[in-house]
Amino acid sequence: MSEIRVEGLTKRFNETAALNAVSLDFAAGSFTALLGPSGCGKTTMLRLIAGFEAPSEGRVLFGDELMADPQRQVPPEARGVGVVFQSYALWPHMDVGENVAYPLKARHVKRSEIAGRVGAVLDMVGLNGFESRRIEELSGGQRQRVALARCLVADARIILFDEPLANLDMHLRSSMVDAFRDIHRRTGATIVYVTHDQAEALALADRVAIMSRGKVLQAAAPQEVYRAPANAAVAGFVGRGSIVSGFVVDQAAGTATVDLAGHRFSVRTAGSPLGAVKVLLRPEALRISPEGMPAAVLDSIYRGPVHEVRLALLTPPGQGRGQELLIDSTEAVTAGQRVHVSASDAWIIPGA
Ligand code: ADP
Ligand code: MG
Repeated sequence: MSEIRVEGLTKRFNETAALNAVSLDFAAGSFTALLGPSGCGKTTMLRLIAGFEAPSEGRVLFGDELMADPQRQVPPEARGVGVVFQSYALWPHMDVGENVAYPLKARHVKRSEIAGRVGAVLDMVGLNGFESRRIEELSGGQRQRVALARCLVADARIILFDEPLANLDMHLRSSMVDAFRDIHRRTGATIVYVTHDQAEALALADRVAIMSRGKVLQAAAPQEVYRAPANAAVAGFVGRGSIVSGFVVDQAAGTATVDLAGHRFSVRTAGSPLGAVKVLLRPEALRISPEGMPAAVLDSIYRGPVHEVRLALLTPPGQGRGQELLIDSTEAVTAGQRVHVSASDAWIIPGA
């Protein structure tokens, strides 16, 4: 059963809908990332689930229990949801232990029980023994861990995160990615995690919901969103890659033969008609090879493990200008060089 369900959820602040008729299920114990550019409605979705905002239309359910519709809302404190925001909102005058214990004290949990539970969650976030530290002594990453511990101590079945790593530097972010995965494993909570960082979304979640302008464009496993984007907007937003025009000349179950610049190869498809299509080619699925599509090197950037090479396909005369491809090449090439490119994987973008 789904632990959270939003149905036809719309939120208007003025004329524009921050969230526009979104329906989405969150399975019990799942980890869903809401991914999309700033302003697309991610925070609004979280606030509606948490109960800080009321829907203009549609409903929010936990299991089969109605949490909110336009007429009736269960207040946030009665939903039993844990929330962690980008700003840590810790109490500076309390030490770490007091901050983390706060939700338990507010619920009159027995003193004898509090110390043990605080110790256990501090352990879980890697702050074992930090109880009597002052908040101002802590780094940004440690403060975020305290905020996380304070959320975890309440043992909520549903935890909502709103860009919790946005204020941290890159190195810390990757270590926190491990902490979040570990927390999901250990608590089994249903997690909804908002981010505009695609790498974070792909690494953390078992499902990624790509949002744009108040809509969910695709909600699927990270591998599916990356390898089989539902449309050009998702393809452009997730990962690097080139979208080129090709021509389907033959079609079988799940694959099509595409002609691209006079070269034919097999492309995965959800089922597209013969004729003009847009094909997504990921840089790591392309390589310079003795045979394949003829191309000219435009430029090459050394990235360490690979050279990131930009190429222009050489089309036969009269077939339009050369389309550009981005490829991760293990082979060094120089601008102006003529090469051939072959693709080990490609995807026809539906409806493009
Ligand atoms: P995200 O979290 O994806 O950046 P938000 O959900 O915060 O996006 O915002 C979506 C849209 O709704 C934005 O255009 C934002 O300006 C608008 N919005 C959000 N909250 C309010 C509010 N309280 N009042 C008016 N407009 C709002
Ligand atoms: Mg936001």
